[in-house]
Amino acid sequence: MQSVTVNNLVFDEYLSKEEIATLVAQVAERINTDYAGREPLFVCVLNGAFMYASDLLKHITLPAEITFVRLKSYEGTATTGKVNMLIPLQVPIQDRDIIIVEDIVDTGLTMHGFIQYLKEEGARSVELTSFLFKPDALQYPDATPKYIGKSIPTAFVVGYGLDYDEKGRNLESLYVLKK
Ligand code: 5GP
Repeated sequence: MQSVTVNNLVFDEYLSKEEIATLVAQVAERINTDYAGREPLFVCVLNGAFMYASDLLKHITLPAEITFVRLKSYEGTATTGKVNMLIPLQVPIQDRDIIIVEDIVDTGLTMHGFIQYLKEEGARSVELTSFLFKPDALQYPDATPKYIGKSIPTAFVVGYGLDYDEKGRNLESLYVLKK
C-alpha cells in the first residue's frame, strides 16, 4: 500500500485517483439528471473543496454557474444559524437553485449554519454535495449531503484538497491516517 508523510504523520492510500474520478463522475451524473432544465449555482466551499469542485464541474452538462465562499465555523453557529464568512458570497442568491460543494461533512456543524444562511437569504432551493461524508460523526442531520462521493468511517483523511495543517491538499489520491 502506498503511504505518504504529511507534517511528520504517516497516511496510507485510501482512494486512488482513478477511484476518485469514478465517484466524482457518478455524482455529476445524478446532479445532471436531477437538475435537468434548471441552472444551478454551485457554491464551492474553500479551501478544501477546490479539487472536488473542479473535477465535478467538468462533468456537469447543465448551464451551471460557480462561485466561492470561505467559511469559518465557530460554536455559536449551531444555535444562531449565523456563519462567519472569511470570503463572502459574491453573487445574489435570491431565487437561485444552490448546490453547495463541500469536501467533507464531519459533525455537520459548518453546513448546518451555511444551509440555514442560504435559505434565509432567499435561495429557492439548497442542496449539498460533499465528496466525503462521515455518517458516524454527524450531529446535525440537516447537514446530511444529498450527493455523496463516498461515506467513510470516522478517521482523519488528507489529500484531494483536504489538508493536515495546510499541507497535503495537493495530493491527487486520498489518504487516511495510519493507525
Ligand atoms: P464539520 O463542520 O462537518 O464538523 O467539519 C467540516 C470541516 O472539518 C471540513 O470542511 C474540513 O475542513 C474539516 N474536516 C473534518 N474531517 C476532516 C478530515 O478527516 N480531514 C480533514 N483534512 N479535514 C476534516
